[in-house]
Amino acid sequence: MESIQPTPTFCEPLDDDGLAEPTFLDRLFDQGLLVRTGVDGLYGRSGAFESVVEALDRLIGRLGAADNAEVLRFPPGMSRPAFERSGYLKGFPNLAGTVHSFCGHEGEHAKLLACVEAGEDWTAGQKATDIVLTPAACYPLYPVAAARGPLPAEGRLFDLQSYCFRREPSLEPTRMQLFRMREYVRMGSPDQVLAFRESWLERGTQMIRDLELPLAIDAANDPFFGRAGRMLANNQRAQGLKFELNVPVNSVEKPTACLSFNYHQDHFGTTWDLVQADGDVAHTACVGFGLERITLALLRHHGLDLAAWPEGVRRVLWG
Ligand code: ATP
Ligand code: ZN
Repeated sequence: MESIQPTPTFCEPLDDDGLAEPTFLDRLFDQGLLVRTGVDGLYGRSGAFESVVEALDRLIGRLGAADNAEVLRFPPGMSRPAFERSGYLKGFPNLAGTVHSFCGHEGEHAKLLACVEAGEDWTAGQKATDIVLTPAACYPLYPVAAARGPLPAEGRLFDLQSYCFRREPSLEPTRMQLFRMREYVRMGSPDQVLAFRESWLERGTQMIRDLELPLAIDAANDPFFGRAGRMLANNQRAQGLKFELNVPVNSVEKPTACLSFNYHQDHFGTTWDLVQADGDVAHTACVGFGLERITLALLRHHGLDLAAWPEGVRRVLWG
């Protein structure tokens, strides 16, 4: 762990009069960087906030440019059958978001409006559609890649970005319900996939250093649901399948995962019948960049006024 030098206001200390100072989230609202919607974890973003997100997106593109990844963009919803087959519900049923829609006739429409009018629950007649919200940018990719047939000998590399949904309302600004994830996804042999992860561990670390943020790389696990989930989480850690690049944003004690490096082994290959050129099941890995989280880390460490950020940081972002 590198040294972390919190700014004096880092932990929202108590005022002289014993009142808590405004939280980081309050200050983001006050400055208009994030915009309240009344739902925790669902925010509007200002032009200034977006200018950082966009600069980060371009920076990540530059860092990966030499690898010639295939760019694909999916909307923030994916096919429900694909989602069901992906196995997401086994690990994270509590985080999933489904899209429901009104499918009734005029009589049911009248009932629905009457419920709204009376302030009663109008959603009972809503039916699940064939769309669910994308939980991670790479989920819509695997079936698409598998449908192309066996991988070429050199494997494949994709560049993705999507809004993602996770039902985890929180007052920590870094834990949103709808946020953007940029990802590179590698598919191929175990060696190819592990080399990819290694190279991004290095590049990601350098990127965060160039942004003059304190960081630590730690072994991690996904928040698998329930008692069985605890075992999955332990295995994931023990096998070193997930690493996170953490930056203190909300607190020094509980730093925030801004980048994640995930090795899925043959999980998605087996799930989607994705095979290598020689017919062996494909291995996959992805590196995910939380665009809002990195933006928030920059705001936390360099201040809410972008013009006052260190010259070096501004140069990395905007040239
Ligand atoms: P955490 O452990 O904090 O829940 P994670 O490591 O499980 O996050 P991943 O599933 O690996 O997250 O997602 C990739 C990246 O997406 C993370 O490194 C993070 O930067 C970002 N991310 C994940 N969840 C959120 C969220 N609720 N709000 C904002 N960004 C998020
Ligand atoms: Zn992924």
